[in-house]
Amino acid sequence: MWQEFCTSLKASVDFFLPPACLLCGQRLQGSTRQQPDFCEACMAGVTPLGPAHCCLCAQPFADATSSHLCGACLQLPPRFTRVHAACRYRGSIKDAVHLLKHRNQLSLAKPLGLILAKVVTDNGTAGPLDYIVPVPLHPHRLRRRGYNQALEIARPLSLQLGLPIEARLLQRSRKTPPQQGLPADQRSRNLRNAFRLAGQVTGAKVLLVDDIMTTGETVRECCRTLLQGGTEEIQVAVVGRA
Ligand SMILES: [Zn+2]
Ligand SMILES: [Zn+2]
Repeated sequence: MWQEFCTSLKASVDFFLPPACLLCGQRLQGSTRQQPDFCEACMAGVTPLGPAHCCLCAQPFADATSSHLCGACLQLPPRFTRVHAACRYRGSIKDAVHLLKHRNQLSLAKPLGLILAKVVTDNGTAGPLDYIVPVPLHPHRLRRRGYNQALEIARPLSLQLGLPIEARLLQRSRKTPPQQGLPADQRSRNLRNAFRLAGQVTGAKVLLVDDIMTTGETVRECCRTLLQGGTEEIQVAVVGRA
């Protein structure tokens, strides 16, 4: 009864106030409405990761036709067992992540989380995981932004995958300048010892979630901290892979 009421109420609201694309604001009506509430044009601007990428870190290959290990993973094997990347960090997804992080458009976290959840579900996690750990923000940046975009992206992921979120387990112990804009050789140094654990992770299998992965330094440092605490396995899930 309550569910029927909610459905008819939603239909009435949709009729008088048709939902709009969360990215460009264009009205979504009838058959053009689709999950995750992006219009067809914005969805067309989402570039899938494609078949040619590193099997471990998901780095896309520009001039290859199949997946294999990238040079970086061969040289220094990463501490995670795989990266689930929803799509390339460009086009609509780059715009959406920018609006979410820097323009307070928190409503974009849900569609981004749903796009990521579908990719993780399609990939499969090859065995059960225990919980999701979002990459944390330093309390100072969290206060300024008002939310942690990685945690907000993790919420729909948690519902879809049936995995709890441990949002306080991994914390930023040091305030660091944003990785973007730093030269490659300074990125690793910038994050050294930037994270700490605030609880037990011994034997845990975790899904580490972030919005984007570029050089992978943030993920690498989070993995180092988690493994020092005795984490058994880390898989990584990111919306955009550069
Ligand atoms: Zn749109
Ligand atoms: Zn790789």
